[in-house]
Amino acid sequence: METDTAVMVRIGELWLKSEQVKKQFMASLMHNIRAALDAESIEYKTEEYRGRVLIYGDAERIASVVSRVFGIVDVSICTTCGNSPEDIAAAAISVAEGKLHPGMRFAVRARRQHVGGFTSQELARIVADAVWEKVPDFVVDLDNPEYEIFVEAREYGGIVYDSRIPGQGGLPLGTAGKAMVLLSAGIDSPVAAWLMMRRGVVVSGVFMDGGRWAGPATKDLALDNARILSTWSPGRNFAVWVVDMEPFFAAMIASCDRHYTCIFCKRFMMRVADALASRGRFDALVSGENLGQVASQTIQNMRVITASVETPILRPILTYDKEETVAIARKIGTFHENPGDTGCLAVPRKPATRSTVELIEKEEGSLDLAELIENACASAELWIARNGTISRKALET
Ligand code: ATP
Ligand code: MG
Repeated sequence: METDTAVMVRIGELWLKSEQVKKQFMASLMHNIRAALDAESIEYKTEEYRGRVLIYGDAERIASVVSRVFGIVDVSICTTCGNSPEDIAAAAISVAEGKLHPGMRFAVRARRQHVGGFTSQELARIVADAVWEKVPDFVVDLDNPEYEIFVEAREYGGIVYDSRIPGQGGLPLGTAGKAMVLLSAGIDSPVAAWLMMRRGVVVSGVFMDGGRWAGPATKDLALDNARILSTWSPGRNFAVWVVDMEPFFAAMIASCDRHYTCIFCKRFMMRVADALASRGRFDALVSGENLGQVASQTIQNMRVITASVETPILRPILTYDKEETVAIARKIGTFHENPGDTGCLAVPRKPATRSTVELIEKEEGSLDLAELIENACASAELWIARNGTISRKALET
């Protein structure tokens, strides 16, 4: 009997979509899988079936790369074989040997699709009997097995595996529009960006450099966040604009009520991000704001921040507890163990937890916002992150 090793990719939510949408999403998913493998210079061959993709090549490496591609529920390293119960049973023995031991609680999970002559229960029975011949004295326990083997008889062949590597879920990157994230040196905004990417949105970033008002480590950290995020979108550019925010701080501190500093600051950031976004086809802005985290993130102040631009501001981690955000940051690689000095020197001693649009607009009346925004945009440096490296993009001449 001929067997081979393949990585099987399982696709989730895509199957809720109409045929037309499914086709587009599958095409994006396959494109992204190829880009991820190409970025690692891995040789492979793919086969596509309804709801499944099989990838042949260095299975361990392929599985670890592909499990990071958005839109995939999980991946399994599996043995492929003929689709007769006998072939599947033989493959199951080779997979189970060395892992299943006498006395262990064991379960066979069988599936059958478009293959006639036996039911999935019969397939499970045939496989269990055959395994018993080689590795006897297991205890069948379908509720709480210590070792589980999955067998599938499909029209295109038999598939046997015993473990599932969790994927990221979500939707294929590139199927859900484009957004501009306000990307800082912190923990929250990279996680917000990643959650949008996981849902299929292509993300670019803007980092507002506070200069002498910001901690000296902030720019490098923010750029490093972009670099790491680019590893989640292999083969694509992750663009980041770095904007000089010092002139705004100087003007705002000279003439506005300091209690509202953080609200002026966030409204300005939104406006600059929006101005930069208006140059491309961006559908939304994204921030890492989180309900009640700091004074500027009370629901009342977020309302005032929201009113600064017409473009929708999406806040994916609005309701997360810090531990939940940190857990994701650790998983995706943006959690910096020793971030260094990232504190903002402009934060007032008693920042206001409440404001109104009227009051803030009145205060902002003393600023030449249009000019500040224009100058900020003109100061923007473009950086491009791609496949885990980042560099400054030279200006086109
Ligand atoms: P984070 O929230 O990302 O951990 P932070 O705690 O430094 O960063 P907050 O004061 O909580 O920032 O700001 C809320 C949100 O505003 C951030 O999540 C981010 O989207 C945006 N933001 C803050 N500082 C900057 C910056 N320097 N450049 C761009 N966006 C920023
Ligand atoms: Mg924050």
